[in-house]
Amino acid sequence: MAGTPIDQKDGFIWIDGNLIPWKEASIHFLTHALHYGSSVFEGEKAYNGKIFKMEEHHKRLLRSAELLDMPVKYTVADINKAAMEVVSKNNLVDAYVRPLIWRGSEAMGLYSRDCTVHLGIAAWAWPPYFGKEALEKGISLCWADWIRPDPRTEPTEAKASGLYMISTLSKNKAHDRGFEDALMKDYRGYLAECTGANIFLVINGELHTPDPDCFLNGITRQTVIELAKQKGYKVHVRHIMPEEVLNADEIFVTGTAAEITPIGRIEEKTYKVGPITKDLMQAYMKLVRGE
Ligand code: PMP
Repeated sequence: MAGTPIDQKDGFIWIDGNLIPWKEASIHFLTHALHYGSSVFEGEKAYNGKIFKMEEHHKRLLRSAELLDMPVKYTVADINKAAMEVVSKNNLVDAYVRPLIWRGSEAMGLYSRDCTVHLGIAAWAWPPYFGKEALEKGISLCWADWIRPDPRTEPTEAKASGLYMISTLSKNKAHDRGFEDALMKDYRGYLAECTGANIFLVINGELHTPDPDCFLNGITRQTVIELAKQKGYKVHVRHIMPEEVLNADEIFVTGTAAEITPIGRIEEKTYKVGPITKDLMQAYMKLVRGE
């Protein structure tokens, strides 16, 4: 691990309406979310002091909480205000913003409605998700052992902490094997997404991206589809077979933290960072910076 542990930084974390000194922002051992995974979160990015697509992130946060049966007393407007307060109170200009909604510690057991629901928001300066070199050369992916589950198994539309268990296992194993991230299939065997980002293939000058019917329909994914269409690229949203990655001329992944990150290799197969990926990367960075 490089640098200061994340829980030992200076600054303030917003919890239930109060700005708490960073190192004191802790919770009780019996917190329901810790034992049973009853929490949902967002990952947002501020550019030049402004959170990109803030409204969309906070709408998704409340939708995720609703899907996990957690009543939240805050509105989207309240969360917007709190998030902006966190960014400015920590003197941040370019930052990652992490809101979390979780069930508290008043009762222990699977029945969760006796536990209060809390909201916290932290923000900190964060360098590129995959490092600077990744943007020039592309990152390496391996296939994950874990698959995105059937939506009847879990609330797959929610950005729920519990759904990240298989992302972490897959990412750790990818690192063990010398890859930067893992590519996941879904329960039917279709290509799904990476551990924390959506995927696009460029085939014969057109974009192809999996139908997000059992995983997160990323806000960046939606933004990139719009950008691509505005630029005149044809976009196909469909079920994609994993072996189709072998026919792709370019591949990139999208996410709030990953932005648009090119793929340089999937297992043994290598890819060049091509012109369409570069074009969209440039357009995306202009858009997020409000240029
Ligand atoms: N899939 C997963 C599993 C993610 O964690 C993320 C990051 N939030 C994404 C996709 C991309 O979503 P977004 O573009 O909204 O950040």
